[in-house]
Order: sequence, then structure tokens, then C-alpha cells
Amino acid sequence: MHVLVLGGTTEARQLAEALLAGEAGLMGVTSSLAGRVRRPRLPPGEVRIGGFGGPEGLARWIREHRVDAVVDATHPFAQTISFNAARAAAVARVPLLALRRPGWLPVEGDDWREAANPDAAARMLPELGRRIFLTTGRGQLAAFTSPRGPAALDALFFLVRSVDPPPPPHPARTQLLLDRGPFTLEGEREVLRRHRIDVLVTKDSGGTATAPKLVAAREAGLPVVLIRRPPAPEGVAVASTVREAVTWLRVCGR
Ligand code: NAP
Repeated sequence: MHVLVLGGTTEARQLAEALLAGEAGLMGVTSSLAGRVRRPRLPPGEVRIGGFGGPEGLARWIREHRVDAVVDATHPFAQTISFNAARAAAVARVPLLALRRPGWLPVEGDDWREAANPDAAARMLPELGRRIFLTTGRGQLAAFTSPRGPAALDALFFLVRSVDPPPPPHPARTQLLLDRGPFTLEGEREVLRRHRIDVLVTKDSGGTATAPKLVAAREAGLPVVLIRRPPAPEGVAVASTVREAVTWLRVCGR
């Protein structure tokens, strides 16, 4: 079987490792990355990098490379590629599984406010604090600038964490923190303390690699603005762990 793993996540790399170790039987694996990050962490095995050219391009790639099954293991906020995968798999008539880690759940002591999207998150901030730790990724910064959000955003300090330098526009008072997970609780406590952060903004990415910031915020009694996940395509089989995805592929390969 030839499996195409749409990647860019820890789980996608772990799935490629498990499949190449033979956990689902004999399988060839190609991992696909969008090419957003300058020095990506590459999964083992075959890797291709760059867009396919929409759902039609992806369907063509699936046919030309004799793909037998597709796993959409992209980030829960990578919405376009997930809809493209659903469309392409239907056109090319191959089974598709979405490997999507569950969202985070609050525990006692958490002070979370949900926002439907980055714009809604930005509108909440002037009421919540002055020094913001923004961990929404480099594609979301425009929402936190005053031309798009309230003028009061210009008075706020933003510590923006990102793997690579984000393209403009940036909030008026921005400090960049170039880093990539997994992050430790000790490290996250130190970031909050050193930068005197009083609000954390994050997407509901789920998973463990970026979760310590939520624990650090709880310990410090800080409010967290949690941006909800965008809708995912309906009618697609979903696995929430790498193990479940391996089982699905094993059954697929029979
Ligand atoms: P997106 O908005 O859903 O996709 C935009 C376009 O990028 C797609 O139409 C596709 O181009 C291309 N693309 C996306 N993922 C691809 C992949 N794995 N392989 C080949 N092409 C891909 O995606 P995004 O939010 O910019 O995220 C890009 C990548 O970064 C994803 O693979 C995702 O797993 C990873 N990532 C995203 C986030 C996030 O918060 N969005 C966080 C961590 C990692 P074509 O239409 O030309 O095929």
C-alpha cells in the first residue's frame, strides 16, 4: 500500500515512523509538507514539499503516484488543505482518514475565554490586560493590528512567538520570540515572568507539545483567550491518536 500523509505536525511524523516500522503491515509512505517553515523537521521516508495546486492537483497527484489511502494529519487550523483532501479523495476514490488530536479542555483554576476567531480574540484583549503573549502562529498577526481591530490594540505590548519571523503587518508594539516546540513548563513560566505577561492568546491546537503554556498561565492566574477550531469537512473518518490511525490503515490494507 502507498499511503500519503499530509503532514506538518508531530503526529504526522509519528505516523510516518510507525508505518515505516511496519506497524500496519508493509507500506510505502510519502509525507507531504506545505513548505511554510524554513527548516522543517522532516519525517522519515519519502517527503515531498509544496502545494499540490488545489483539490484537482491533489487528486492528480494521488492518481499519478498510485496512492491507496490518504491520512490528513495536518494541523487542526490548516482548514484549506483538509477540505482539499476531502474533495480530492472523493474524486480519486481513495479512502481518507483525518488524524486530528482532541482540543484542550479546561481544568479547575483555568480562566479561559473562548473566541470564535483571531479578530474576536483581538477585540477581547484591551479589557483583559496590557502585555500579551501571542502564540497563534505567524499567519494570524493582522487581526491584532489597529487598522483591523480596535485602536486600543496599539497601546498593548505583544510578545509574538513563532518558528520563523512572521511577515508584516505586526501589532504596533511587538517583540518577536523565535522558537519552536515542544516547550517545557519551566521554560513557559520563565517567558511569562520575564516579559511580565498578563494575558495568553492561543489557538485550540490540542496536544502536549504546546500545552505547558496553559499550565503556566493557570499557575500565574492569567486569563487565556482560546481561539476555537475552524470547521472541518464532514463525512470524513477521524482518528484522534496515531495508534488509531495505524489500526485504520491496517484494516484498509487487508
Ligand atoms: P492551509 O491554509 O490549510 O493550506 C493552504 C495551502 O497550503 C493548501 O491549499 C495547500 O496548497 C498547501 N498545503 C497545506 N498543507 C499542505 C501539506 N501538508 N502538503 C502540501 N501542501 C499543503 O494550511 P496552513 O494553515 O497554511 O498550514 C500549512 C501547513 O502547516 C500544514 O501542513 C499544517 O499541518 C502546518 N501547520 C499549520 C498550523 C496552523 O496553525 N495553521 C500550525 C502548525 C503546523 P495547494 O492548494 O496548492 O495544494
